[in-house]
Amino acid sequence: MTAPILEARGLSIAFGGLRAVDNVSFTVARNRITTIIGPNGAGKSTLFNLISGALRPRGGQVLIEGVDQTGQPPYRMQAAGLARSFQITNLFFELSVGENLRLASQILEPWSLALRPVSASHAALARVDELLQRFSLKDKASFRVSALSHGEQRRLEVALALACKPKVLLLDEPTQGMSHGDTQDTAALIKSLANDVTVLLIEHDIGLVMSLSDHVIVMHQGQKLAEGAPADIRNNPAVQAAYLGHP
Ligand code: ADP
Ligand code: MG
Repeated sequence: MTAPILEARGLSIAFGGLRAVDNVSFTVARNRITTIIGPNGAGKSTLFNLISGALRPRGGQVLIEGVDQTGQPPYRMQAAGLARSFQITNLFFELSVGENLRLASQILEPWSLALRPVSASHAALARVDELLQRFSLKDKASFRVSALSHGEQRRLEVALALACKPKVLLLDEPTQGMSHGDTQDTAALIKSLANDVTVLLIEHDIGLVMSLSDHVIVMHQGQKLAEGAPADIRNNPAVQAAYLGHP
């Protein structure tokens, strides 16, 4: 059997006395959408920090395609196939949409060509074009990011995370602060991404979680409370008590 694309084994970290992530294990199936839910402060973003290498776990392991990558810095995690977006924005507001995408895509250029002018970066420019098209940002390519709507900015962040052609995409609350319409558009977009990338999502909109996810993991006070198919999670009494019953 081939190894899962991503596996967390007993991940733990504490801040002072607070066990922010406490012995959390799960596997992520290839080309599926796996969603992590849980109340504010449950440890979801911290879990992403451990998986993406932003934080080193106190205990446990992160495996990408069966290879132990625990404690590797983010650029090594990225080289292994992992990319992430952030709950807090990661955009260059004074640069254009196209420039933001070009910077993120530059990693696709061979090292030997890295010092050529940006205009000669064919692989990167081709990727920028693809992403502008796919994310419906073509007519906004020359706009400064600061001139985009909130929904467009969040969409651009997903595009940036995809620029390096990752195998696994970690998205931390991509619909946060979005209007209902933008949220629906983003859901459709994420669904379409799952054809060629594995998605691990943190999402607070329960309706969206239930319609979008193949698999749901519930976090509560740093621990994994439950996991399963969306319908099983919805009907799980422990989940209802800890989370769904107290929106
Ligand atoms: P979630 O994303 O589920 O809302 P977080 O992972 O952001 O939760 O936070 C989990 C807990 O860890 C919270 O109590 C938060 O205050 C705490 N925490 C997160 N990051 C840090 C940090 N760098 N230092 C201290 N405490 C932190
Ligand atoms: Mg968070």
